[in-house]
Amino acid sequence: MNPGGLPLLSDIRSFALDDGPGIRTTVFMKGCPLACLWCHNPETVSSEPEMSFNLRVCIACGDCLRACRHDAIDLELDGRIRRERCTACGDCAEICPTLAIKRIGIALSPDQLAERILLDKPFYDTSGGGVTFSGGEPTLYMDYLTAVIKILKRQNISIAIQTSGFFDLAEFESKLLENLDWIYFDLKLFDAAKHRRYTGVDNAGILSNFRELAKRHPERIIARVPLIPGITTPGDNLASIAGFVRRAGCDRRELLSYFAGGVEKRRLLGKTVPKSLASLRLQPKADARCRVEFDNSFSRRSNPTKIQCATPTVERRRASIHSNI
Ligand code: SF4
Ligand code: SF4
Repeated sequence: MNPGGLPLLSDIRSFALDDGPGIRTTVFMKGCPLACLWCHNPETVSSEPEMSFNLRVCIACGDCLRACRHDAIDLELDGRIRRERCTACGDCAEICPTLAIKRIGIALSPDQLAERILLDKPFYDTSGGGVTFSGGEPTLYMDYLTAVIKILKRQNISIAIQTSGFFDLAEFESKLLENLDWIYFDLKLFDAAKHRRYTGVDNAGILSNFRELAKRHPERIIARVPLIPGITTPGDNLASIAGFVRRAGCDRRELLSYFAGGVEKRRLLGKTVPKSLASLRLQPKADARCRVEFDNSFSRRSNPTKIQCATPTVERRRASIHSNI
């Protein structure tokens, strides 16, 4: 949250095809209570503004050095920014001619955000799309979202949310639920100790929230399982989650192929990349095996009607790394 009291956004991406039905605009909000080892949007974990630097497009002009009032630029450093001195004021990003330095995190009022989203309305109208709030964890900002959604619903815009499920259910139901058309609910690890180890939080509340929402609103909830090699992909985890989703009465589920783009984003943010993360790979055969295993576990009682592959194209994801609001 910035001093103006508004949540920060890391990106607003038009023409998203993987974030719900039709062509959507995805709004990425900064701030997340989880700290998943594999997070592919590490720029959304902190709710504070952050600076990214991309050496590949830096022409070493020195404009940033002259703009910085905090002595936080060192052209001798590969990463340019002396992070311990940087206040993320963004002065250097304003002046950088190649966008090698960027400030991540802008604040828009609910009116401003709704206005931006509505620019894409013609695409929603022709494709059955809408807006998807993602992150980070958008439910950290329920009052803000409620204000934005209220404006959008006047124009009959479809609203989806992508959530870790780590929220207060009573607040979610009283503030947000009424206007949500789709709830994309992440389920990562069924084992409580492993969930704590890899995400930093307990999963009891997440599982309970999923169970309740699936019971009360089965038509709106979609379980999403990220396939993280060696972490979420072991057969016992997939079988446990598939059985849980099935017993909860949720028919809709998606398995998300592993995407290593978070590693590069961490580097741009000046964050260390754990060795265990840098080496993660999920081969196409292993990805396919996971899908079959999940399907088999899920369909032990019901017909497997809808496992959607949400594998993004490399190009689309790359674009998202460097896109601007
Ligand atoms: S202003 Fe941009 S291009 Fe110039 S040295 Fe700084 S980061 Fe590199
Ligand atoms: S964000 Fe501000 S403090 Fe940080 S390097 Fe740029 S100009 Fe300096």
